Amino acid sequence: MQYISTRGKAPALGFEDTMLSGLARDGGLYVPETIPTLSADDIRAMHGLSYEEIAFRVMRPFVGDAFTDEVFADLIAKAYANFGHDARAPLVQLGNGHFLLELFHGPTLAFKDFAMQLIGQMFQEALSRSGKRVTIVGATSGDTGSAAIEAFRGLDAVDVFILYPHGRVSEVQRRQMTTPVESNVHALALDGTFDDCQARLKDMFNHFEFRDSVKLAGVNSINWGRVLAQVVYYFSSAVSLGAPDRTVSFTVPTGNFGDIFAGYIAKRMGLPIDRLVVATNQNDILHRCLSTGGYVTDSVTPSISPSMDIQVSSNFERALFDAYNRDGNAVAQLMDELKAGGFHVSQGAMQVLREHYDSGGVSEDETLSMIAHANRHMGELLCPHSAIGVKVAEDLRDPNVPMITLATAHPAKFPDAVEKASGIRPPLPDRMADLFDRDERVTRVPNDLDQLETLIKDRIAS
Ligand SMILES: *Cc1c(COP(=O)(O)O)cnc(C)c1O
Repeated sequence: MQYISTRGKAPALGFEDTMLSGLARDGGLYVPETIPTLSADDIRAMHGLSYEEIAFRVMRPFVGDAFTDEVFADLIAKAYANFGHDARAPLVQLGNGHFLLELFHGPTLAFKDFAMQLIGQMFQEALSRSGKRVTIVGATSGDTGSAAIEAFRGLDAVDVFILYPHGRVSEVQRRQMTTPVESNVHALALDGTFDDCQARLKDMFNHFEFRDSVKLAGVNSINWGRVLAQVVYYFSSAVSLGAPDRTVSFTVPTGNFGDIFAGYIAKRMGLPIDRLVVATNQNDILHRCLSTGGYVTDSVTPSISPSMDIQVSSNFERALFDAYNRDGNAVAQLMDELKAGGFHVSQGAMQVLREHYDSGGVSEDETLSMIAHANRHMGELLCPHSAIGVKVAEDLRDPNVPMITLATAHPAKFPDAVEKASGIRPPLPDRMADLFDRDERVTRVPNDLDQLETLIKDRIAS
């Protein structure tokens, strides 16, 4: 299995190099050269299997010879062993024909654990085999950083540094990043915004001398390994509702387009999916693009669903690549236009996108109302992101096709918004109830590239 860049100019790579490098050298994102398919019988054979067994069957064809079957099964087992629910991704019913896929039973209470826990294991295995070490640096507005720290803490081939904006993440998110005791974990509170964190991270990747000297690696959502791990729960949930003999649709609270793109991959692999519905908050560039064809950046307005506050949705590039018949030059040109403020998707490409995707945008007030409504009438306390999904799904769904909405975070991760909407302050699950008693360890850092690079070099040398 080879992976090619969406901009057509970087060399094709195998799975291991694709995962370890993250971004392609031409600035593009890696996608599989061909998408393997599973037959209806293959999918039917998943009935009654555990999450881990389904994960193995879905991901195996993408991994090639990077891991033996035995090793790969073992990595999957370790990745999900710390989840707080035996089903890993349980499906609950909200109403007639509407289901909620709970993706928040991982160690940091957001769906990002599904991918991050697995790539933590895969990085460690690949690196220990080659004797290499890497330095992972990530920027976060909260969920990615906590999931990455949780996944990589204590692994000896990896140092992990997470930049988060000082004073701008929730207390639960901060504590999840600052309380791990392992010495390979480094939480850095940057004096600046999330955009500053991302900008400094990008600077480090573009500073080749530094990049090579510390063996910089990225685990943000454009990493193919993360997309792949998310394909699994589309299969496990659809199968539990009768796939392949029953078609389902999905609604996905969307920011960087990684999660919903995994649903598209599941569909291309042969899972019968009718609609893939993109749900956005007030930062609705994707909803506007899918409605009008215009992808024009605006400023980000902070919301009560901060993990979806984005302006540029990185993984959308992968959807465009397929919509433009895998023409890397066309994608590269769109991305150049984006630097100048935006682009228009061609009519032909819009037609392809509309074959798969629908979209809806939700205001702050509608989000709060849906949290209250779901608590009263659906028996579910939703986090704000999940509430946005449920709202769009209720508005757009076809009553004849079961709808599965992805619940992307646990309500206890966003207690203020949930309490405001419902009057209930959701408690942390028992297994992390002592989070507020643990000691914090964090380094305050200036928004300055030189000083950051020096700090990182010093830390990994010691
Ligand atoms: C990251 C995140 C999202 C958005 O997912 P994308 O893959 O970036 O589209 C939605 N909800 C929560 C809680 C998240 O952490």
